[in-house]
Amino acid sequence: MSVRARSCDTSHRSCQSHKSPWNGFTRFMSRLPSGSEDNICDNDNNDKNIKSIRRSVTGSMANGNEKEGHVLVLYTGGTIGMMRNEQGVLVPLANAFVKNLRKYPQLHDREYAEKRFGAMGPLVLPVTATDSRRVVYNVLEYSNLCDSSNMTMDEWIRIANDIKESYERFDGFVVLHGTDTLSYTASALSFMLEALGKTVILTGSQVPIFDARSDGLENFLASLVIAANYNIPEVCVFFGTNLLRGNRTSKASATSFEAFQSPNFSSLATANIKIEVDYCLIFRPCSMEKFYVHASLNRNVGLLRLFPSITSDLVKVFLQPPIEGVVLQSYGTGNVPTNRDDIIEELYAATKRGVIIVNITQCSTGCVSDAYEAGKLLQKAGVISGFDMTPEAALTKLAYVLSKDWDTETKRQMMQTNLRGELTAGRPLAIQDWDLVEAVARSLRLSSTVELQELGSILFPAMLNAAVMRRDVMKLESLRGYGADISQANADGRTALHIACCEGDMKVVQRLLKMGANVHIKDRFDRTPLTDAIEYDHHEIIRVLLQCGAHLHGDAVLISERMCAAATVGNTKRLQSYLLAGADLSQKNFSGRTPLHFAALHDRMETTEFLLENGADPHCVDMLGETAADLAETMRAAGAARLLAPFKQNGVCND
Ligand code: ASP
Repeated sequence: MSVRARSCDTSHRSCQSHKSPWNGFTRFMSRLPSGSEDNICDNDNNDKNIKSIRRSVTGSMANGNEKEGHVLVLYTGGTIGMMRNEQGVLVPLANAFVKNLRKYPQLHDREYAEKRFGAMGPLVLPVTATDSRRVVYNVLEYSNLCDSSNMTMDEWIRIANDIKESYERFDGFVVLHGTDTLSYTASALSFMLEALGKTVILTGSQVPIFDARSDGLENFLASLVIAANYNIPEVCVFFGTNLLRGNRTSKASATSFEAFQSPNFSSLATANIKIEVDYCLIFRPCSMEKFYVHASLNRNVGLLRLFPSITSDLVKVFLQPPIEGVVLQSYGTGNVPTNRDDIIEELYAATKRGVIIVNITQCSTGCVSDAYEAGKLLQKAGVISGFDMTPEAALTKLAYVLSKDWDTETKRQMMQTNLRGELTAGRPLAIQDWDLVEAVARSLRLSSTVELQELGSILFPAMLNAAVMRRDVMKLESLRGYGADISQANADGRTALHIACCEGDMKVVQRLLKMGANVHIKDRFDRTPLTDAIEYDHHEIIRVLLQCGAHLHGDAVLISERMCAAATVGNTKRLQSYLLAGADLSQKNFSGRTPLHFAALHDRMETTEFLLENGADPHCVDMLGETAADLAETMRAAGAARLLAPFKQNGVCND
């Protein structure tokens, strides 16, 4: 079976067709100067937009103590951003959202933002008492703000592609979306965003955010804070006080502020005074792959809900080509009438033709099973179990699975496999999984669930790190069996993968990655596992991390400072590490100097050679207008001067 997606065993722009990821955006409203707010809808402006994001993400230098989390907000429409027109009717108003956000002190710390990024830079949240990173966010407004009842698969693909375009430049993503079809979009995205390593949160509101009494403000703020501060590599829905797994949600109320329910799966996090994440529940992709988007869906899918006296003619017509996949909503635990051979025959005929029929329950909670004869009949007719999937998840999963290049049997299997935490098929988490923590808890006379969880969050990172230090892969496995989250951080925000990348044992690193360890987590010093692998020059590990989607992050000028320091002492191996990780060897430091300037200045011949061979720009001039060759000459660095002589000419600034 050639299948790329694997699961952990523990578990708008306009509503038009999609052309290019950037096509149809208004632009980064939070970046352009006022007065230049015309729509940017054509492909020619893609580069402009991307450069605009880069500038706004980097900004001027932070003082180094201020930690920031960068979030991209995709504003697709929905009630949350709507305003009342003269008739008092709610309508989306183009180009108004960001302007209004800037006026709200809870949503924008103007003083900090202007000092750091200038007047029309990105938006910045005020510091929160409980979360460590400042949230810096850009808003990408879709040019045709969409009531979500108008959403189609084209918009899902568009959102997925937009996340792909900016994936490496942001720590997390918030999608502002109408509530009506939000669960469909969240479910679809959960499948389309493959090997996701960052947090994507969909939210909206029942009342517009700028109304005096609105749920929008809380929903938006909490989503931003979670996306910037917590590593929850899933597509989630935030509403009320709960962060839910997106593909487990359904809209449950047209009026309540708690509009979404997750009937068969607990909240991933709750936002009360503190944001409390239940890390044991996080679904972590275990494939050693880089993030990518599966940007096609099969539209020949449908939802068929049984009801008493349904005619076999209706079932027959429904199952006719071009239909390729059907979610059948049966009664209770998956039952169909036992006295309706006519319906069973139609279902059987369709599955024989290759139509995939997935059985889920009409009840809002629970799972289908073959406990009754009524359920067994479906199995015999070739209908497969959808376990406890929501209708939204089952339908979008069908559209995803059917668009894959797999044979029919593989597609049927994948529908019954837990791909993104959307279904519960195996053994539920048993209480014994907590044995280890419980034993310690008993001796400390702790008993409540909260105490147990807190103890787990203290013990597990320490035990995981000890296992990494001992290179004990078996121990890592057994700790996960006990319920440890493989990406749980210690007090310094460091995970087992950080330690393993310093230690340099490839087997341990690979094991951790296969167990779902996340490559994007930043510790208290803003270091990712990739930073550690670079600074310990573990080249093979750098390669594996990149293969799993890791990338350099942070200010390019600071990265240059580190490369310049390496060039100064002739540490060519370190420069190799940076090169492998994707750094630009010609990147200037604060003085406009490149690593080549320093290699020349200190007459590091081997390093100079390496830099020249690997494309470092010898014509680059520093702030004083000097090239590397000029410096070598001034310093009488004979070896470097000889190597650089062929390039001795007027320098060109390569900004
Ligand atoms: N009709 C709106 C929509 O789904 C409702 C909402 O945003 O809550 O776009």
